[in-house]
Amino acid sequence: MQLQTVLHRRFHDEGGTEFVYLANSAAILALDAPTAAVVDAFAAPNGLDGSTWAGDQAEPERAQETLDDLIDLGAIRPVGEAPAPRPQLPPMPFPLATLVLNVTNKCNLSCTYCYEYGEDKIGEGQGQNGKARMDDKTARDSIDFLMRSSGDRPQVSITFFGGETRLNFEAIRAATEYAEQQAQAHAKRVHYSLTTNATLLTEEIVDFLTSHRFGITVSIDGDRGEQDRHRTFKSGKGSFEVIAPRIRHLIATNNARKGRPIGARVTVTAGATPVAETYRYLTDELGFDEVGFAPVTAGLEREYALGDHGYERLLRDFDALAEEYVETALRGEHHGFSNLGDLVRELHQGVNKAHPCGAGLGLLGVSTEGELGLCHRFVESSSHSVGTVQEGVDQQARAAFLEKAHVDSKTDCTKCFARPLCAGGCYHEAHVRYGDATKANVHYCDWIRGFVDLGLKSYGRIQAGNPTFLNRFDQS
Ligand code: SF4
Ligand code: SF4
Repeated sequence: MQLQTVLHRRFHDEGGTEFVYLANSAAILALDAPTAAVVDAFAAPNGLDGSTWAGDQAEPERAQETLDDLIDLGAIRPVGEAPAPRPQLPPMPFPLATLVLNVTNKCNLSCTYCYEYGEDKIGEGQGQNGKARMDDKTARDSIDFLMRSSGDRPQVSITFFGGETRLNFEAIRAATEYAEQQAQAHAKRVHYSLTTNATLLTEEIVDFLTSHRFGITVSIDGDRGEQDRHRTFKSGKGSFEVIAPRIRHLIATNNARKGRPIGARVTVTAGATPVAETYRYLTDELGFDEVGFAPVTAGLEREYALGDHGYERLLRDFDALAEEYVETALRGEHHGFSNLGDLVRELHQGVNKAHPCGAGLGLLGVSTEGELGLCHRFVESSSHSVGTVQEGVDQQARAAFLEKAHVDSKTDCTKCFARPLCAGGCYHEAHVRYGDATKANVHYCDWIRGFVDLGLKSYGRIQAGNPTFLNRFDQS
């Protein structure tokens, strides 16, 4: 029978340990040299005849055993074998795990690249598309909706998003206090998180957030020079001077209360400081626990957009910071490069996504008026509305979208080894680029594949050098 290695990625660590990542199962196998040779031999364009191949080897019995093992592991399969069918959708209605409340669509900053108000916006602008602020009743309705839509889940998450969330702290307070009561009534545990630009954090607000153990993400681009390049007030004045003391106070209070890690979210633009330098500044100088980097979303005509060279440079920058991450992991210590940390966790857990993210599935966004969107980036837009918090989810619209957005429907992704992790990428980005949220984001495949390669290489080195580090990612 003609046999062939399934869609896969081969990689190795520096010590020469060979691995293969299988795209159908998202499994990572460490290979000894003879097994690696079999995987490579059967990767031939038309595969090999399995029954004659073993007989041609120096030790036919051993070769046959190795081949049988690889067949059992799903690494080598008959040529043309149809992949095992998988359900288009999990049983619906899928219980909600996370609700993202857009408490305001206003912001007190005027960042050059902001998707909300920049060229990639899908709303009509500040406060023009829907109410500028969510009222307390809608905030409480949202909590009721989450409680009744989360089924038997013992834990749920509420995320506050904007605009600048601090501009509607009343709704955050109302939602949180109401959620505390409802959590008890429904025997659920609620986790809170919020994204802020930190310009308006006061002692009172820091006290509230840290005492409720909020997971806090601060949008910040780096040191004074980086921050003030794009993250400015409407007057054009940079925001660094305002945010630095507030962030220090937030982090000090959170540390004293042993709160959840506080993360920085950096938007990377063309000509930005190298990632490792920014990471060092944000962790060593400002005290952030974690830093995540996101390439700016912008049309190529923008001077701050990342073209091909920008993405190539970003990958090199990530490579440099990944080196630090791996060295730290080999010593058994935590490193806060969250992009890589998340990827290594997903690789370790064998994550194999049918959909790129939880949007529309376990996660929904709520607009200031209580309309439900696929996620926070779709609310305030008339597209992809899936109901309201008062009336509930339009289950038909939700299921129709998810079926169409399933990775198996994206022909571009069928031959891609990064598919289990990417699954076509962000719906919102596809919506902006292609006018169709269910399309694969083929404009950034090289970037995604390069990053997944970096993750595999890093994972392999940790697996070979200090596998116990990975235990922290075991699922309970
Ligand atoms: S969008 Fe590109 S990188 Fe992502 S799974 Fe599809 S083909 Fe692969
Ligand atoms: S659609 Fe995009 S922005 Fe929305 S949750 Fe998914 S990845 Fe995030």
